[in-house]
Amino acid sequence: MTSEPARYVGRFAPSPTGPLHFGSLLAAVASYGQALVNKGQWLVRIEDIDPPREQAGADKLIIDMLEAYGFEWDGPATYQSVFTSHHEALVSRLISDGLAYPCSCSRRDLVNVPTGPLGAIYPGTCRDGCAADEFAIRVRVDDEPIEFEDALQGTIQQRLQSESGDFIIKRRDGLIAYHMAVVVDDFDQGITEIVRGVDLLDSTPRQIHLQRLLGFTTPAYIHIPVAVGEDGDKLSKLTGAAAINSDDVGASLHLALQCLGQQPPETLARANSGVIWQWVAENWNLATLRGQSKIHPARHGYG
Ligand code: GLU
Repeated sequence: MTSEPARYVGRFAPSPTGPLHFGSLLAAVASYGQALVNKGQWLVRIEDIDPPREQAGADKLIIDMLEAYGFEWDGPATYQSVFTSHHEALVSRLISDGLAYPCSCSRRDLVNVPTGPLGAIYPGTCRDGCAADEFAIRVRVDDEPIEFEDALQGTIQQRLQSESGDFIIKRRDGLIAYHMAVVVDDFDQGITEIVRGVDLLDSTPRQIHLQRLLGFTTPAYIHIPVAVGEDGDKLSKLTGAAAINSDDVGASLHLALQCLGQQPPETLARANSGVIWQWVAENWNLATLRGQSKIHPARHGYG
């Protein structure tokens, strides 16, 4: 009897806050490499649910750049905003199940509460009710440890009650919070493995908590080290990391692969993207990044 190989579905889920920079290219390459070596599907989802942070046209710049780099995704790129009413419905379900509640606390109300590595630890002020016209929705947490195994970062454990407190799933301004949207869409799209930057590692227990409350399966997780500049700070749109361009795709992909601990032959730096992705499909292995939290692209010749 032969059994079907396990289905693999990965994804790249950029927020359209600006064009792709080298740090986000690494996340795209890492998730695509995993999908290629697992002979799986790879989806692109534009996470456009936070208009105040977005830049007009960034979605198109990101998609054009992914195309220029020869990434091939399954089906059309999806836009997270299309699913807002579904996110809203699940927030309502959590409220009617008694698992989430309105919270009228403003940022100012929380200035004196204890903080931990995840920020202010919500003290539960509105747990038993609040009266206000404007409110966020928070999901209840408890202090059972939430533990998962990250393929690169090892065993991760958090106690949400003492480390974050009940957290926001719908913001006061009416927008659905990232944790809620990402959990719902990853489940709806059948994502089996999430590959993203280690800066999101400490968000994962909150996302697993939501998966459990909603009855969703938990995917596998790989949090790759984040690219940092000479100053040790994460390369990001906020710190002004330069957008990548398509002038020399081979050299950029070769550099990205080196940063991700692969050993691409020198000749690949002059190859076209098809040849490079073929090499990746046959040689990809993230194991050398185990336990690392930072990548220094400058040490590989970036910049
Ligand atoms: N949209 C998020 C970002 O660009 C990534 C979300 C995720 O991979 O879970 O930072």
